[in-house]
Amino acid sequence: MAKVVLEKLCKSYDGTDKPALDELSLDIADGEFLVLVGPSGCGKSTALKMIGGLEDISGGSVWIGDQMVNDFASRDRDIAMVFQSYALYPHMTVFDNIAFPLQIAKVPKEEIAQRVSEVAKTLQLETYLTRKPGLLSGGQRQRVAMGRAIIRRPSVFLMDEPLSNLDAKLRVKMRAEVAQIQRELKVTTIYVTHDQVEAMTMGDRVALMRGGVLQQVATPDVMYHDPANTFVASFIGSPAMNLFHAKLVGSDTGLMVHIGGQALAIAQEVQDKYDLIKDNIGQDIIIGMRPEDLEDASLKPDHPTNQCLTAPVALLESLGSDHMAHVSLLAAAVTVGEDDDLETIALDATEKSSCICRFSSQSTAKAGDTVTIAVDCARLHVFDAKTGQAMRS
Ligand code: ADP
Ligand code: MG
Repeated sequence: MAKVVLEKLCKSYDGTDKPALDELSLDIADGEFLVLVGPSGCGKSTALKMIGGLEDISGGSVWIGDQMVNDFASRDRDIAMVFQSYALYPHMTVFDNIAFPLQIAKVPKEEIAQRVSEVAKTLQLETYLTRKPGLLSGGQRQRVAMGRAIIRRPSVFLMDEPLSNLDAKLRVKMRAEVAQIQRELKVTTIYVTHDQVEAMTMGDRVALMRGGVLQQVATPDVMYHDPANTFVASFIGSPAMNLFHAKLVGSDTGLMVHIGGQALAIAQEVQDKYDLIKDNIGQDIIIGMRPEDLEDASLKPDHPTNQCLTAPVALLESLGSDHMAHVSLLAAAVTVGEDDDLETIALDATEKSSCICRFSSQSTAKAGDTVTIAVDCARLHVFDAKTGQAMRS
């Protein structure tokens, strides 16, 4: 087993003017499950292929254990890879598909039998060993592909969207299984996905990329509660965080944020967390509010009135457990694109912007009503309006 270190890893493909990967640096601990996540085209597969030795490195270095492996062939890096297309050999049994890497390495027959049996047990494939892949379900086939990777006992697993060919239900089941198997085997794993839910549920830590540039690497909890910028804030979480242009204003009673003609008090917790707020009084900012921090105020009669917004409900979606109220705020919403355009934050210039609130199921608000929204003002997020960076040092 081994740690993996990426040092300013760069990739420029021939004939392209923009690097696919721009100085990616990551320290992945021995035994850690790190998820590399981001929108399509942000450079995840490129990074993984460079770690695995399937793509030339344009700049920087890859370390596995204490060896710099830039010039090592893929087979000499002690890694195993699992991809989206699991490419099993259709004419071979499950046993032979799993055993294949050991057969190639001329491992003695008895040892192969023993190791396949162990792996099959871990993956609950014991009763399928004599079957051919064509007679297996998608999930079972993906487990066989995992088995083929596990059996080599590599130092590092590299997985590139291994579950994305499976249907939604199976994906949920398999992501728990893969995470559990990794925790049993304690093999350092770098797992690529575009799905933020997969990233958040599986990873010890999550590294979010955009346009070849790392945006933040942290535990799922920190990614969610302390996003480094508006891109992280809007990518992690569903429905996404509501982001609006607003203005910081000082008053006798403390700091306020003006949002679409209404004022919200900023709680002390927020001022402590976003410590640069104090230098930005009077400035335009971006305020972030997660849907679950916005409740129907009629259910919270004691909620301070200076921590409420009023808005008409344009649409109400009932999920049973809670109600998603889409309310219209007279404020400019910030929409963060998925592309690599880091400089511009698109301004939705229309007067009214939609804000999604997650009301609890007792709420009787309906479309057409004007509701008062209790905002959890201790959980506001504050970003610089020009850079989109979290307002903290
Ligand atoms: P992801 O896996 O995050 O979807 P990729 O790593 O596949 O992204 O691609 C990152 C960027 O590099 C994209 O803009 C993609 O078009 C480009 N790219 C990937 N592979 C090649 C290639 N072989 N030649 C040229 N450009 C490539
Ligand atoms: Mg990819």
